[in-house]
Amino acid sequence: MERREESKAVKNALKGAGIDVLQVKHATGTAWGWLHIKLARPLELACEAHGSLQAYDRKDCDACCAFTQAMHVIDRRAIEVALQVTGRRSNPNDCYDGNIAVHFDA
Ligand SMILES: [Zn+2]
Repeated sequence: MERREESKAVKNALKGAGIDVLQVKHATGTAWGWLHIKLARPLELACEAHGSLQAYDRKDCDACCAFTQAMHVIDRRAIEVALQVTGRRSNPNDCYDGNIAVHFDA
């Protein structure tokens, strides 16, 4: 799949899956094959006491841990959708998910 087509297809598929996608783009240079997906931070799920800090910031807070867990679930879902639409493969022997990376907006 051509790069521009691929990023457009992934963005549309993520939207179709109800994922709040901000940007999909390919890396350049030595990371050329990587596809980067930027998602909106799910602030509606954030901890009321600590905002959108994550569990590695507040391991003592259940709501922060739940927020981090929710982000992991969204991250996995986005990867699965992207793998499916691109035909990229996730090799169980590596941790690179078909060279697809998900980032949450700061
Ligand atoms: Zn908290």
